[in-house]
Amino acid sequence: MPLALVVHGGAGLIRRDSLTPEREDRCRAGLRAALDAGWAVLHAGGSALDAVQASVVALEEDPAFNAGRGAVLAAGGTVELDAAIMDGTGRAAGAIAGATLPRSPIAAARAVLSGTPHVLLCGPGADAFIVDAGLETADASWFETPERRAQYEAVAAVGGYGLDHGPLGGKKDVYGTVGAVACDRGGHVAAATSTGGMVNKLHGRVGDTPVIGAGTYAWDQTCAVSGTGHGEPFIRLAVAHRISDLMELAGLSVAEAAERVIRVELPAVAGEGGVIAVDAAGRIAMPFNTGGMFRGWRTEAETGVQIW
Ligand code: ASP
Repeated sequence: MPLALVVHGGAGLIRRDSLTPEREDRCRAGLRAALDAGWAVLHAGGSALDAVQASVVALEEDPAFNAGRGAVLAAGGTVELDAAIMDGTGRAAGAIAGATLPRSPIAAARAVLSGTPHVLLCGPGADAFIVDAGLETADASWFETPERRAQYEAVAAVGGYGLDHGPLGGKKDVYGTVGAVACDRGGHVAAATSTGGMVNKLHGRVGDTPVIGAGTYAWDQTCAVSGTGHGEPFIRLAVAHRISDLMELAGLSVAEAAERVIRVELPAVAGEGGVIAVDAAGRIAMPFNTGGMFRGWRTEAETGVQIW
């Protein structure tokens, strides 16, 4: 099967005039590094699951994006991390929500997948699991950046709540939630998504990212999907699973299904965002209904990075 890898760094109101050339370069470089990390796994014959994890880890380590280091701050000024990973072969999944400790939230989600009978661990239980599993932890000072503190204070001062780069959380030098989808040589697909969520979210709020079928989903029979945007409508419409359903039950292609959900169904409930998706034949889709979406793709035919 042809290899394919797509990554995203968030969707939102990303205006050309508010993104300096330096910041744009930094973002594009981060997406390219994530593509390189995942492609190295795929090219060496590795699994889609390992590839999406490698791509997301690279983006979590990059403070320019809203995941891991550089995650946005919740109400009270703390970091609450959500992440999920799903294997399209057998549909095994693992996720964490509201965790404060894992240096790599996606590695923690992977450990839930491989090391527990559960799918989703949250809050103090997720943190305890991360410590018990011997995963690398980090403290708040590692996750928080000065830009995130300033962004949080500006949003909290007006009682706002928003997407990292939406109208409330918008700040020209910060970016978004991260994700990756891949198809490997064996025709297996996988999806991974990691985020700090929305700026000034209520303590305990869980977004779409760790909810299987909402922001993250993978099944070899249809596709792998990673979403970004305002999480609540993604949960209400089960966006990622809906795309899979449209392929399975209505015979749509991955591009047709993703376009319909993002451009027609999500706006019908005032939902903003986008998805990256890949099917088991390596065909990709990257629709969004916002001003922009940070995204990069690589197939055996081509590679690219785009924002608008
Ligand atoms: N979907 C994420 C959430 O609602 C936010 C984002 O994509 O930037 O938590």
